[in-house]
Amino acid sequence: MSETVNTFEAQQHGRPTGPLVRGYEVIIGFETHAQLSTASKIFSRASTAFGAEPNTQACAVDLALPGTLPVMNKGAVERAIKLGLALGSHVAPRSVFARKNYFYPDLPKGYQISQFEIPVVQGGSVSFFLGEEKKTVRLVRAHLEEDAGKSLHEDFIGQSGIDLNRAGTPLLEIVTEPDMRSTAEAVAYAKELHKIVTWIGICDGNMQEGSFRCDANVSVRKPGEKLGTRREIKNLNSFKFMQQAIDYEIRWQIEEIEDGRKVEQATVLFNPDTGETRAMRAKEDSADYRYFPDPDLPPLVIAADWIERVRGEMPELPRAMAERYVRDHGLSEYDAAQLTQSLALAQYFDDAVKAGATPKLASNWITGEMARRLNAQEIGIEAAPVSALQLGQLVKRIADGTLPNNAARQVFEALWTGEGSDVDAIIEAKDLKPMADTGALDAILDEVIAKNQKNVNEYRAGKEKALNGLVGQVMKASGGKANPAQVTELLKTKLG
Ligand code: ADP
Ligand code: MG
Repeated sequence: MSETVNTFEAQQHGRPTGPLVRGYEVIIGFETHAQLSTASKIFSRASTAFGAEPNTQACAVDLALPGTLPVMNKGAVERAIKLGLALGSHVAPRSVFARKNYFYPDLPKGYQISQFEIPVVQGGSVSFFLGEEKKTVRLVRAHLEEDAGKSLHEDFIGQSGIDLNRAGTPLLEIVTEPDMRSTAEAVAYAKELHKIVTWIGICDGNMQEGSFRCDANVSVRKPGEKLGTRREIKNLNSFKFMQQAIDYEIRWQIEEIEDGRKVEQATVLFNPDTGETRAMRAKEDSADYRYFPDPDLPPLVIAADWIERVRGEMPELPRAMAERYVRDHGLSEYDAAQLTQSLALAQYFDDAVKAGATPKLASNWITGEMARRLNAQEIGIEAAPVSALQLGQLVKRIADGTLPNNAARQVFEALWTGEGSDVDAIIEAKDLKPMADTGALDAILDEVIAKNQKNVNEYRAGKEKALNGLVGQVMKASGGKANPAQVTELLKTKLG
């Protein structure tokens, strides 16, 4: 494995240093297991549906009964191709399945079928924003393999059982270079990858059910030193735990080093109840697994026309969609990235624009007011009480000067609470139309000018700012119904 480390070492050359923690640089690499959304297992016809009675979805192949043979599920391969295309990877025309040998009760064959020397997906990268900074994490590979079963610890009878329903569920293990430099960057990477696999429909992304599980490899070093020894935190199945676990692990490793001890390579588990990581076993090296090509499976051959057919069926990817928003709608790269957080959100924005909204304004409302309310209520855009069509109408009324900002907020509030459903009807009912009657507005202007001679004199003496005070007074007197731009113009004319 020292060879691998040297390769990583060379690849780290010239990469920027991250934020230091107590003088240490943090290095993180991820291995993510994404369960593939096929109806049946990777090498058998048993169902992959979650939540069935134990062992009701494990057929003879999954149970490793003598004489059974694995048969490759085409749907799993197709999903691997999709991932490769989405991440800009090389989809290998020929890859090989290998046996990874180890003993564990949830693995009746005594080996896991995986890919070792030649994986199906090679290279590629994942890009995302960390705050306003663009990051790119390089991928080493993604390989196809089968999931293992599950041990059920039945505390009430003091025994453990084995459920093999999960055995043989198709997985893609997606491995990054050790490119991440902070917990925040690692979590942002995981969220982006989660977004991509669900976007292209190869994984349902349900983290609670274990459909998307991350192993975080963490090490620390003083800047300029060679890579430190890593510990691997296994099976992180929520973004919150991921953040807590990595933060804890970084602090723990620094303490060890500061106390004069060496970090030993290990596999650790995070305990959400204590917020701590604890060593589970000393880390195995690949030699321990005695990998060799599986004689029961021929090499996986993927013809170029298969890849092309899959390419033709791919949805527009978030990256391409964001680029389109920048190009066609003049949005910033950051706003475009926000709007492409999920397919549903992007769809919502597209629909609002179709309904006549100015793209930039629609984007501001969706990533601002709307996002704030969705977060507060912990709901997704799918459950937003304001439809894209309604937001489109609202934004149209802002753009055409009908609604000043605070009036627009009142309309949005009415839509959100369900007080009204039609934008124009709400404007009518709440009497929010801007003061179009220049007679009434004129009277207010004259009154404000008469009462604020100090500001008037200052403005006339060349102090531009004094005008703001006057505009504010007029807005107040109009009950917020005057259009500030119009008021400014009228005042300038009157005081000219
Ligand atoms: P294995 O397959 O034995 O777990 P690999 O060498 O393939 O080991 O690396 C697994 C993961 O660990 C990769 O995501 C890689 O980026 C990451 N990694 C390797 N070295 C380090 C290190 N020193 N610090 C943090 N992560 C590392
Ligand atoms: Mg590993």
